Amino acid sequence: MGKVAVVTGGTRGIGAAISAELKKNGYTVVANYSSNDAAAQEFSKSHNVGVMKWDVGNYEDCRKHLADIEEKYGSIDILVNNAGITRDGFMHKTTPDMWNAVVATNLTSCFNMAHCVINGMRERGFGRIISITSINGQKGQIGQVNYSAAKAGVIGFTKALALECANKGITVNAIAPGYIDTDMVKSVPEKVLEGIINQIPAKRLGTAEEVAFIVNFLADEKAGFITGSTITANGGQHMV
Ligand code: NDP
Repeated sequence: MGKVAVVTGGTRGIGAAISAELKKNGYTVVANYSSNDAAAQEFSKSHNVGVMKWDVGNYEDCRKHLADIEEKYGSIDILVNNAGITRDGFMHKTTPDMWNAVVATNLTSCFNMAHCVINGMRERGFGRIISITSINGQKGQIGQVNYSAAKAGVIGFTKALALECANKGITVNAIAPGYIDTDMVKSVPEKVLEGIINQIPAKRLGTAEEVAFIVNFLADEKAGFITGSTITANGGQHMV
């Protein structure tokens, strides 16, 4: 069996492409999800990847399921914090529930997951923690105070944890995609999306596979000197 990788939100969109890419490259992959059983079962069957349902915003659930994974598949070497949601709205229309849901799923999840695997990684002297942030965590976005704050938090989380683990064989990195063609982006109104694509120098959305390629690169043993980095993949949008 190859190294064990856990991908949160790994059954749809970017996460599904990450799970598939890691599986193709010899990792034993477990893909987590939160509610869409049909999509998870379909993905599991078509890619022969184990799937497990829990809410990554809940610490106790993470602890319990990660312990189950380690018992069944072995120690977790690669953690990909990919699960994320949006609950968009201008600040004056954002409710505390919208704020809390976005922070729990996008940011607190990174703590919950990493906290449960970090001791094992330190003991074994190897680990890869890769978290998916966003261009909107780097530059901010109207209607996304909650999402931009949570994704900016992921970058701080990455840098601080990278410093703590740099001498333990554990690398901690983030990937900041621009707009990627997934269900999350399909929920943006068509006119708004047209405007967004016009602002992207590459004049197209990115693909989930393009993000998965970077995850596979960072997960490799040979990427051991890359830590605390945020790799952007946005068709040049961060420069405009
Ligand atoms: P999708 O909405 O397509 O997929 C999200 C995945 O996360 C699903 O598998 C979903 O499970 C899972 N998920 C959601 N909430 C939870 C939770 N509480 N616990 C466990 N799993 C959960 O999203 P994308 O693929 O578009 O996005 C993936 C990541 O990339 C996110 O972090 C997002 O913020 C980030 N990102 C996306 C961009 C884009 O343009 N698409 C751009 C920049 C960053 P289920 O199937 O059960 O609903």
